[in-house]
Amino acid sequence: MDSGQFSRSKQFVHAVEDVSFSLNTGETLGIVGESGCGKTTTGRLILRLIRPTSGEIFLEDSPNLATLSDHAIRPYRRRMQMVFQDPFSSLNPRMTVGSIIREPLDIHSICPPADRPQQVRKILDEVGLPLSSLNRFPHEFSGGQRQRIGIARALAVDPRLIIADEPVSALDVSIQSQIINLLQELQKRHRLSYLFIAHDLSVVAHISHRVAVMYLGRIVETGTKAELFENPLHPYTKSLMAAIPNLDPHVRQKSALMEGDVPSPANPPTGCPFHPRCNHCMEICRKTPPKPTVFVTNGVEHEVSCHLFSHDKQTLKKTVATT
Ligand code: SF4
Repeated sequence: MDSGQFSRSKQFVHAVEDVSFSLNTGETLGIVGESGCGKTTTGRLILRLIRPTSGEIFLEDSPNLATLSDHAIRPYRRRMQMVFQDPFSSLNPRMTVGSIIREPLDIHSICPPADRPQQVRKILDEVGLPLSSLNRFPHEFSGGQRQRIGIARALAVDPRLIIADEPVSALDVSIQSQIINLLQELQKRHRLSYLFIAHDLSVVAHISHRVAVMYLGRIVETGTKAELFENPLHPYTKSLMAAIPNLDPHVRQKSALMEGDVPSPANPPTGCPFHPRCNHCMEICRKTPPKPTVFVTNGVEHEVSCHLFSHDKQTLKKTVATT
């Protein structure tokens, strides 16, 4: 490392590392975790809005999208769309709703030009917006309606995968459920796959078939919704669940609450990245990153990366160190 006054040593941030999952047709995989845990980066990497330094990304019969040139990836981009948290900033304020939905049809030459106005009207109807919306501008709509416009634009290219990045977190609770219901209806109708990114576990529980929990750029636990919510294994997952407010004042369930913030990815902890905040930290956790262990219950896989659930768990228990 050069230590001259004007020289700079290069620092690399591993925003996402060792992330591996698959998504079936018509399935929703929820990705949860605190801010800064790498959820959005994961979505952007899949869409190739960020180029990964290594790894593989496949969509149906595609070649490895991670290594395709910007030109070669274009046909596959059409099959993957993103719905953003803030639809207002992602919609061009100078374009009418009709032209916002029509633009991707023109860019990707979807259906004959003469049929496109009819196609725009059909999509508008599918997302529950009136035909009178066609000549209006995004600022004339409420937050929920704007999110419907964002979904319509994503739907216009007939995608296979939609990455929804906190699509309801900026909306009122009553509107949230309408948008979630709309996404579920569209999923059934078009057999869409969703990667649903959110920090709100209750929203994720509502829409997801499977859930992946991320911490500091890694997936620490994956399972079906039922398995993960009924039988969480990783201490971080348990802490996230303990943080869900309970409306019953007689219920006390905060014992698993964690303290402190997510460490900087520029300077991650050694060993298990969760160890500085974990109530179950053992000696090995400070030095050795845990590897994923798969449990199969009633034919359903549940994967967790934690030394408490390593194959040599019994040996590890003897090394428990006080924190
Ligand atoms: Fe806690 Fe150790 Fe498991 Fe990490 S590996 S979550 S520090 S028990």
